[in-house]
Amino acid sequence: MVNEENKIKVLYVRDKCTACCTCTNLDSENWVMNTDDAKADLLNSEKEGKLHIAYKEKTMQLQMAADQCPERIIVLKKDLKKI
Ligand code: SF4
Repeated sequence: MVNEENKIKVLYVRDKCTACCTCTNLDSENWVMNTDDAKADLLNSEKEGKLHIAYKEKTMQLQMAADQCPERIIVLKKDLKKI
């Protein structure tokens, strides 16, 4: 269950994923490689235009995945409002 005070919005530009597996290796609770198109899936996310968006608990693993994604396509936002 997500702790409301620690909740963040995750924005992910899936089209630009280069399948390096960094996020899935660091944070397997939130990321999984999709074997159909070899891109990472953000679990329990919804697609809005080019973005995949999910509301998650901010964990060290999720922060590391965002920081170490070489494409810089994982963005964590404290502001939960619509972008
Ligand atoms: S770290 Fe970034 S580029 Fe690598 S698989 Fe994850 S989303 Fe794709």
